Amino acid sequence: MKLTNMELNKFNFTMKKELETLVYMYSSFLKRKYGMKVFRVGLSTGLTCPHRIKTGGCIFCHPATFTGEYQSAVFSIEEQLNKAVPRIKKTCGAVKLLAYFQDETSTAGELVYLDKKYRSAVEHPDIIGLIVSTRPEYVNQKIIDLLKSYNVPVTIEIGLQTAKEESLKFLNRGHDLNDVKKAINLCEQNHLDLGVHIIIGIPGETIEDMQNTIQFINSCQTIKEIKFHNLVVYKQTPLAVLYQQNKFKILNIDEYISILCQLIPYLRGDIVISRFFTSNIRRTQIALGDYSGSKPEWLNKLRLALIQQNIFQGCKTGKPYQP
Ligand code: SF4
Repeated sequence: MKLTNMELNKFNFTMKKELETLVYMYSSFLKRKYGMKVFRVGLSTGLTCPHRIKTGGCIFCHPATFTGEYQSAVFSIEEQLNKAVPRIKKTCGAVKLLAYFQDETSTAGELVYLDKKYRSAVEHPDIIGLIVSTRPEYVNQKIIDLLKSYNVPVTIEIGLQTAKEESLKFLNRGHDLNDVKKAINLCEQNHLDLGVHIIIGIPGETIEDMQNTIQFINSCQTIKEIKFHNLVVYKQTPLAVLYQQNKFKILNIDEYISILCQLIPYLRGDIVISRFFTSNIRRTQIALGDYSGSKPEWLNKLRLALIQQNIFQGCKTGKPYQP
């Protein structure tokens, strides 16, 4: 039986509420931290990623997957906000916003240029905080001082992807774990919250490797947020060439959820999970592999799997999640 839109929304709402009792979701974190409705608005500095320009970039990277329609170098920050904010308010009501510089390497520019971009965002009356996504080696004291100068809550996000050195090399990340540790230490010394992205399904990684990555994250108190990504193979990437040569298999959603269920119990309960699935799998139409279903359906599968296995975030750590 096909559900009406209203029934579907009600189901998704109830499903999300139940998931919030099992894992520390971003929505719960925002409610706790700000006590009001807060959303992220994706913005672009207009900078590109130096690693991609210099080396061709990470073997999985496809820039078309991280550029939204109002995130374009041709628009100023004011223009991006003028387009995005009314749309968010129309859908979500009266909300405050976090400016999320999410594409490319959002700190890889001259300080004067970056200051202009970040400042334009924080001066908007609805913006109450900043999130800046970057590579580990582009986190330095000058960038941190600049971000702190705005006197708003700041989170730096870096692509960790994995704590296994061989995998970092395989992915052509162009940095090693030591670079990640340096960025983590700098954030810690400066009392800045850090979020990390990790990828599940990297060819050659075992479940123990992935659990080691979780243990590494647990050991860094300054890491407050994690984004899980299932490895998605986009056409016209070096990873797609390896896939077409049958060098590895892409995880389907059920296999991926099964792995998540082997990681979530080991993740410290106070780390916010702000993503469970790679975004933009569908929109770009350039992903290889089978992604039948929708994100709410996948989240529901995850919820059911956690309940069936009687597990929740951090249940196998000394710091279980407390809803
Ligand atoms: S660091 Fe990010 S933007 Fe740069 S090549 Fe790698 S995935 Fe792409």
